[in-house]
Amino acid sequence: MDVGSITGEVAEIPPDEVPNEVDLPRIERAVREILAAVGEDPDREGLLETPRRVARMYAELFRGLHEDPRAHLQKFFTEKYDEMVLVRDISFNSMCEHHLLPFSGQAHIGYVPNGRVVGLSKLARVVEVVSHRPQVQERMTEEIANLLIAELNVKGVAVVLEATHSCMTIRGIRKPGSICVTSAMKGIFRSNLSSRSEVMTLIYGDRR
Ligand SMILES: [Zn+2]
Repeated sequence: MDVGSITGEVAEIPPDEVPNEVDLPRIERAVREILAAVGEDPDREGLLETPRRVARMYAELFRGLHEDPRAHLQKFFTEKYDEMVLVRDISFNSMCEHHLLPFSGQAHIGYVPNGRVVGLSKLARVVEVVSHRPQVQERMTEEIANLLIAELNVKGVAVVLEATHSCMTIRGIRKPGSICVTSAMKGIFRSNLSSRSEVMTLIYGDRR
């Protein structure tokens, strides 16, 4: 951790990237209220800038609410390639909607094209948008899979998400190191066992 992040003077989302829909002053008032409610003095020096920082942080962490992930899947290439495409280890950070605490990990996305392929970075873009919303890991997994089915008309899609949830590691049952794995298998990955084991081997093969 550098000194900047200790004092809170870290790079923030630039003002022109705060979505218009986000009401920063309203978040600031709410954060002040939370601080007072837990027994803090929101007017002490160290906390004076906190509501403003938290408001901008929420604007950043939840900006995916105001973006359409489908926008990243509109540009595709017509290809005869009909074998599996797999993008592994796409890092993501999201916020659990039950506690507003972060969960983060890796997404692995495999699909079998049906005449259309997308740029590989576009899959990471989709993960970026969907993760920057109040989320539940299970739903996020389904959402990514359904987007690929709907927009690319793929023959099959496999989405596997692995994440650690800070609501499990820093509070509640406090189980540091536990990893939550979710998967959504659609099309041939659901109906065909060998396709499913192929994608799981490619995801996990040389790691486990
Ligand atoms: Zn939680």
